[in-house]
Formats: sequence, structure tokens, C-alpha cells
Amino acid sequence: MQIRKPVKILDIPVHPLTMAETVNALDECITSSRKVFVVTANAEIIMMCQKDTEYNKIICCDADIVLPDGAGAVWAGRHLGYDIPERVAGFDLFNNLLNLSAKKGYKSYFFGGAQDVAEMAGKKASVLYPGVIIAGYRNGFFGEVESDTIIKDINNSGADILFVALGAPKQEKWLASHLTELNPKILMGIGGSFDVFAGKMERAPKWMQDASLEWAFRLYKQPGRWVRMLALPKFVFKVLRRGK
Ligand code: UDP
Repeated sequence: MQIRKPVKILDIPVHPLTMAETVNALDECITSSRKVFVVTANAEIIMMCQKDTEYNKIICCDADIVLPDGAGAVWAGRHLGYDIPERVAGFDLFNNLLNLSAKKGYKSYFFGGAQDVAEMAGKKASVLYPGVIIAGYRNGFFGEVESDTIIKDINNSGADILFVALGAPKQEKWLASHLTELNPKILMGIGGSFDVFAGKMERAPKWMQDASLEWAFRLYKQPGRWVRMLALPKFVFKVLRRGK
């Protein structure tokens, strides 16, 4: 797998790839049986890494591909003078990988979300991407003692791709601590993507995504997130102040 070298945004390595390059690289990982841990890093995740040393280490050392997710990460990369071709949002990559899987016969495992949400998301995936194989499901509410059983179920399913929807940083921390035990080739955290597929949460309309206003839509739909979302202006301020 040959991918462009990462650039650094607030000391976090971010790979400046397009969606097409990412999907090709991940397809190659499956065909060549190489395990790859993918993180879609938005401004909030990059800010979490400034304070959480365990999370920082996971993103900097354990992740194989870190993608610029969200208008903030793309803006920061470009502001720092890097050539960031486009945003590679987790939800969009999830869709693109399901599309690839439907064509190539790759199997996915859906892990995360509230009871039944992963199954509902799987049904939607089968409608959107006919032929897609969802090899297993598991909700995201569990105690760490259950991790062994969950890992066995994932491995026994024969999944090529594991989508983990536990929210950040929990999903990356869980993946990092079980990296060697997990057999799927693509391991990726996708936040609330199952909720969107299951119809429990709406994604911003395309015009808002294009106008870099997805954060405003999220704030409008989930006002309780305002404290978490304070990370966005703090991120902008830090990038402007710190520079490269
Ligand atoms: N979730 C879960 N287990 C947990 C905590 C959260 O499965 O212990 C799920 C939750 O139901 C939701 C998703 O993780 O579907 C988090 O979505 P969010 O949009 O908050 O993700 P983030 O923005 O943090 O990536």
C-alpha cells in the first residue's frame, strides 16, 4: 500500500488522500491481506488528542491511515500550507466501502450503537448497496469483560471490514487495545453512522456539507453537544496561533 506521506495538524499526522485514493488503498489491503486501522480525524478528535495522551498515541502511532474528516481539519491543513485535496468524512467512507464490498463480495461486521441499531443499519445498507454482506452485528453497550466474546464473534463471522460505532475516542481506544486479536483487514471507527442509516439521526443536507456548515446542523439537531462542540473554535484559534 503506497499512500502519500502525512502532514501534521497540531502534531497529529493526517494523510492528504482523496476518497478514491483511500478506497483504492483499502481495497488493496483486503486483497493483499494487510490489516489497516483507519481513523477519520475531525477537529474535535484532533483537539481531544491535545489533552488525552493515550488517544494521542493511538492516532499518532497505532493508526495506519488518518483522514481529514470535517471542514475544520481540511481548513487547518490548507491554512498550514498543505495540499489537502478533499474532506474524507467517516460517513462517506463507510458508504464507499459498502459500495466496494457489494461489488467485490467483501463482508462487513457492524459493531456499535444502541440495541437493534446495527441491525437496522444493516437492513438499510442492503437496500442502498444490493448484494452487500453484513456478516454480523453487535450493539455497542458492553462491559470490557465481554470484549473476548465480541472479538470471537467478529472473527468467526469472517468479516473483511469491521465498522465500530462507539463514538470517539471510545471506538479508537477499543480498536487499539484489541488490534492484534482482531482478524478483519479494515478496522475503522464511524461514530454515529449507524444512527443515520437506522433513521435515528439526520445528516446535514448536501448544501450545508458543501458550505462547511455540517457542525451548525449537528448543533441544531443535538443542542446538548454544545460543550463538545466548543472544541471547534478552540481548534481554529490554536491552529491560527500555533501554525506549523
Ligand atoms: N455508543 C455505543 N456505545 C457506547 C457509547 C456510544 O455504541 O458506549 C454509540 C451511540 O449509540 C452512537 C455512537 O456510539 O450511535 C456515537 O455517536 P456520535 O455521533 O456521538 O459519535 P462521535 O461524534 O463521537 O464520533
